[in-house]
Amino acid sequence: MDFSLAPEDEAFRDELRAWLDENLPPFLEKEQAGEDEDDQRPNERLQRRRQAWQKVLQTGRWAAVHWPVEHGGRAATPMQRVLYSEVMAEYRAPGIFNTNGIWQIGPMIITWGTDDQRARWLPSILQADEHWCQGFSEPDAGNDLANLRTTAILDGDHYVVEGQKIWISTAHLAKWGLFLLRTDPTAIERGAKHEGITAFILDMDTPGIECRPIRDMTGEEMFNEVYFTDARIPVGCRLGGEGEGWMVAMGTLGFERVGIASQLSTLGADLRAVVEAARSVNPDALRDPILAERLAVAWTEIELAKLLSLRAISRVIKNERPWPEVQFAKLQWSSLAQEVAELAVDLLGPAGVLGRGGPDAVDRGKWVRLYAFQRYSSIGGGSTEVQKNIIADRAIKLPGHARLS
Ligand SMILES: Cc1cc2nc3c(=O)[nH]c(=O)nc-3n(C[C@H](O)[C@H](O)[C@H](O)COP(=O)(O)OP(=O)(O)OC[C@H]3O[C@@H](n4cnc5c(N)ncnc54)[C@H](O)[C@@H]3O)c2cc1C
Repeated sequence: MDFSLAPEDEAFRDELRAWLDENLPPFLEKEQAGEDEDDQRPNERLQRRRQAWQKVLQTGRWAAVHWPVEHGGRAATPMQRVLYSEVMAEYRAPGIFNTNGIWQIGPMIITWGTDDQRARWLPSILQADEHWCQGFSEPDAGNDLANLRTTAILDGDHYVVEGQKIWISTAHLAKWGLFLLRTDPTAIERGAKHEGITAFILDMDTPGIECRPIRDMTGEEMFNEVYFTDARIPVGCRLGGEGEGWMVAMGTLGFERVGIASQLSTLGADLRAVVEAARSVNPDALRDPILAERLAVAWTEIELAKLLSLRAISRVIKNERPWPEVQFAKLQWSSLAQEVAELAVDLLGPAGVLGRGGPDAVDRGKWVRLYAFQRYSSIGGGSTEVQKNIIADRAIKLPGHARLS
């Protein structure tokens, strides 16, 4: 197998590195100057920082590299997307404001939207002027997403929305959201639950939409229950045709899953950063043979998972389905993400469990927060048990295994 980069990929990576060398340090310096101003409201501060950074990124056309050039991107290939994430992780660049919008919702609007919809919404995602969320899950529709029951019933030139979503990240901060709603409530009883689902872009300020933040185990309130009571949505907010929502969603989740390669790069960078932090706050840990072995295993597994992801990407490049590599990579990533977070807390010793606000907290409590937050990785984007079911059913074809719907 030839791992050397094509000249255009190397040029892409070099250009990005040169741009970051010039633009990231001044951004970080400016940010650090105002950092302690409002430590009481870390979420808001984080959002503002991400918004500012995305705006800077887009001055160099680096916010949405995989979008077509005419929409403000660089038409980056799957391989260039991986390089992009690797370089961003290498530079420890801040996150962006519209992660869902850039990686999932924007491409869906480009594919499914009308010209008017593209002109209306793409700039708001790209320029980080407004925040976007993604509303799929419901109390009885998580892994079994097609069981969703929040209805949108046509009434003249509006749809009337009734029901409830849950776990919707940053919905309380969002102006817009891509939501999946049921326009044909008879589909589930007919045994055709994937039918009758439609995608909508909702203005979150619409009367009848209420967000109630849920406190998670990190102590933050970043995801929400979203209630709809007689909320009237203009027909022009429908993305794609009635009943085409499942296809829209599968495209969106597809983007999410190929994104695993990017997240693996972040894990490698996290591991390096925590070893550096341990060197100063708990150096004895680095001489502990058990921790040293866990470090070596985690590092090796991250590298192996990256190779698995590269195999998936190479299938995408050849127009083949990246299957079952994507499922395997998702499983690998979720267990590694949890192991790296646990390892971080163990390597840092007593200082590792001090949260934000404590004078001795390492990296402002980042690692202990991550320890709690990474429980997410085996739930979001298809839980571990369900991924294993899919692999058992469709890749290994285990005899007697229940067929999945
Ligand atoms: C931090 C975070 C952020 C999120 N952000 C968003 C967001 O922005 N937008 C959004 O729409 N959703 C979001 N979600 C929701 C996420 O997509 C769902 O949590 C996920 O789809 C799982 O659904 P669920 O929680 O309903 O669990 P369920 O599907 O009810 O599963 C519960 C448990 O049962 C197991 N299980 C379920 N079915 C089977 C089966 N057939 N066989 C074996 N075991 C099974 C699961 O593995 C799991 O352990 C977020 C979740 C988290 C944790």
